[in-house]
Amino acid sequence: MSVNTKSNPIKSNIPPQEFSELVANLLVSCFRGINQSLSKEDALVKKLEQLESVVRKGVRISPASGLGKEIEEFFDRQKTELQFQEEEKDFVKTMALEVAETIRSMLSNSSGLETNISACVENIEKANSIQDILKLKDTFIGEIQKVRDYSQSLNDELEEHRKTSTILAEKLEQSQAEALVDSLTNVLNRAAYNMKIVQLIHEFRRYKEEWALLVLDIDNFKKFNDDYGHQIGDRVLKSVAGTVRNTIRISDHIFRYGGEEFVVILNRVDASFASQLAEKICRQVENDYFVDGDNKLKVTISIGGAIITEEDTESSLFERADQAMYQAKKNGRNQVVMDT
Ligand code: GH3
Ligand code: MG
Ligand code: MG
Repeated sequence: MSVNTKSNPIKSNIPPQEFSELVANLLVSCFRGINQSLSKEDALVKKLEQLESVVRKGVRISPASGLGKEIEEFFDRQKTELQFQEEEKDFVKTMALEVAETIRSMLSNSSGLETNISACVENIEKANSIQDILKLKDTFIGEIQKVRDYSQSLNDELEEHRKTSTILAEKLEQSQAEALVDSLTNVLNRAAYNMKIVQLIHEFRRYKEEWALLVLDIDNFKKFNDDYGHQIGDRVLKSVAGTVRNTIRISDHIFRYGGEEFVVILNRVDASFASQLAEKICRQVENDYFVDGDNKLKVTISIGGAIITEEDTESSLFERADQAMYQAKKNGRNQVVMDT
């Protein structure tokens, strides 16, 4: 994928034909964006597709640029955010059921623990969005707190349940309606990473399906900014994020961790497969270029990777991948090092 860094302003004196093409192109970008955010079964999808083909008949439609591209990116951001929230909602629901089960089994063994957890879970199950769940947050956290206090006095077999309810309480606290998508690169941001990692570690402990965490860092990016300017640097950052996102599978995740650093989660991989995929990402970025006038600009990245283990916490796993990334830098950059 190449990116033209020349801007495409809308001129004020446009000939009628060119104006029609411009409007038609913007309409097509809107139709596509709206269609992306609808489910396939939605009746509006068909109607918008028909409308698009009518618009297409009249004028020449070119790949989106300028405002059209911004519109497409807006819808793209929205889609990423909605997908993430949908996954979060499912996870919170699953956890709510686990906690409810614990509370119920406790109740059968004890008297005097008053709870209205059933009503609470019923409402969570009915929730259609994370916002619906957030409305029930305070009541549910109160219920979880009761059980956590009670289970303090019980034996070790409840430890796992206590952990689950703690994670759930944290999740509900974290699930603010804050932005989860990075506005420059359109990929999930650090806040989304913080939420997702808790879920992934919990799921690994439960289902034992291995996954890998990769830390990606653009090489010599300070020099790149110094040579070509921060604005072109921003475009390159955005393009690298796009390249990585297009290289990984749909079930994997990419987050902008900060600055010129990204985290990628590769689901259901062992060390050897993770290393192959990381290598593929590295080569894909290396082969990519960015068009700036007559120049073709390139950047490379260094990648460190680690496979989740039973002993890992979020920080130990990240630390192992980060150290491996620094090793890749030391070894000469533009390469992958896996923690072993
Ligand atoms: P290394 O290969 O060791 O990673 O070298 P580096 O120059 O990439 O690393 P360093 O940490 O010294 O510098 C990171 C640079 O990334 C500095 C900063 O200007 C740039 N950077 C961070 N965030 C952004 C951003 O949002 N936009 C742009 N254009 N540059 C950014
Ligand atoms: Mg760097
Ligand atoms: Mg860095």
